[in-house]
Amino acid sequence: MTVDRTAVIRRKPPEDVLDLRCDVCIVGSGAAGAAAAIEAGRLGRRVVLVDGAPAVGGQATGAIIDTFCGFYSVGPKPELLTYGIAEELVRDLTADGAMARIDGRRNTIILYYRNQALQRWIENALVGAGVQVLTGALVRKVEMEGRILRRVLATTRYGEVAIQANTFIDASGDAALAWAAGLSVQEPASETIYGSQNGIVSRVNVAALAAIGGPEEIKRRVVAKASSYGLERHDAFVYVLPDTDQLLVNMTHIATPLDPLGASRMVIEGHEQFDVAFAFLKAEFPDVFRDAIVDRYGQPGVRQTRWIKGRYQLTIGDVRAGTRFDDAVARCAWGVELHNKPSVVHWEGFPAGHVHYVPFRSMVHDDADNLLAAGRCIDADVLALSSVRVMGPCIAMGIAAAHAADIAGGDLVSQIDTRTLQQRIAANIGQASVGLTTP
Ligand SMILES: Cc1cc2nc3c(=O)[nH]c(=O)nc-3n(C[C@H](O)[C@H](O)[C@H](O)COP(=O)(O)OP(=O)(O)OC[C@H]3O[C@@H](n4cnc5c(N)ncnc54)[C@H](O)[C@@H]3O)c2cc1C
Repeated sequence: MTVDRTAVIRRKPPEDVLDLRCDVCIVGSGAAGAAAAIEAGRLGRRVVLVDGAPAVGGQATGAIIDTFCGFYSVGPKPELLTYGIAEELVRDLTADGAMARIDGRRNTIILYYRNQALQRWIENALVGAGVQVLTGALVRKVEMEGRILRRVLATTRYGEVAIQANTFIDASGDAALAWAAGLSVQEPASETIYGSQNGIVSRVNVAALAAIGGPEEIKRRVVAKASSYGLERHDAFVYVLPDTDQLLVNMTHIATPLDPLGASRMVIEGHEQFDVAFAFLKAEFPDVFRDAIVDRYGQPGVRQTRWIKGRYQLTIGDVRAGTRFDDAVARCAWGVELHNKPSVVHWEGFPAGHVHYVPFRSMVHDDADNLLAAGRCIDADVLALSSVRVMGPCIAMGIAAAHAADIAGGDLVSQIDTRTLQQRIAANIGQASVGLTTP
């Protein structure tokens, strides 16, 4: 065999910036950003989707969440609340055996999904919609002209990228785009909102677990004995992944600071807390966990940190009253789920038939004319956000943001006619019984 062993010498060119131009630039590829990108691409728009992580999917695929909440209404006969991409996901993942319904919990339907199947679905849908995906790219700087965002500069391992767009969508979860642009953002004034370090424990004796009463018994035992084991959180959300010997463990509460050192500490602290939870499981349920191992830790799960200053702040009063806004663009019936104490979770469920809405104004940045937010960084007070941040409404907001950008075309997204937007997404706000149709 002959091998050419010669090498070439290269040096980085002085001006090494990759310039991208598009109609819509979206930062964040989680439930909200991926939905926005797929929808905008399908509408024929040139889309660049930027994410700092190495692969798309955000927390939906990275943080070992593995269940969709907020897709259905509450009550004895829950109905789908978000159509289009959400409906396709349910159809396709169910057909592939990668989704299962969890009926009855929280008085609604929760959907288990197989993580890798969701990630591949998103990747295929992005490619099919012609979206330019830019992963491993952290937003570094935003160039503004008055109230208009002109260019986003991002850094990757492989060089700098500049993205020029008509409309920008901040789906970063932490309002990272608005923050980098120097625009107003909001943080809880005094509350700490905790995230969780989720993970998978495998080699669980599932039959032995069923014999003692299943995950419910684990929850009961956590409530009774958490303190004696040094567990920060005194409740638990655990379940066996369908057809496996794996247990998804959501038993920790970690602070999720937005400074570089704090964010790094959060990862190690999350793993430490997870290990304490694992030790608890092994000690309390030796027959179930004798051979068990910590299979994997997810990325730290971050619930609520920083959000935009929108034109309107969705309030807990709006959520409880089910206020039907003139510019409603997404809806949800998931309860108020605030993680503002290390030990317990504040849960406030709603009665059958209750639905609450997200107004478009909560997605429009107050200081800019071509910047929308979608997902867990829209403008809502801490209690209201703790409901609408689940993935059903995040997808609905992404879809709405894409249509808003499409309607705006080269004009300002802040000025669009919201009636036109609502006609396009009628199914997602309960104005039509048919599925969302792309014009
Ligand atoms: C532990 C936990 C359990 C949960 N359980 C459920 C559940 O069972 N069901 C449910 O529906 N919801 C659940 N939620 C809520 C839900 O998962 C999130 O609120 C939702 O996924 C948020 O989606 P998003 O698209 O807004 O943001 P994210 O999924 O957070 O995506 C944001 C993306 O932006 C990227 N990004 C951020 N900053 C930058 C930057 N500067 N440059 C480039 N990219 C950047 C990130 O890499 C990330 O991919 C849970 C949340 C947590 C933390």
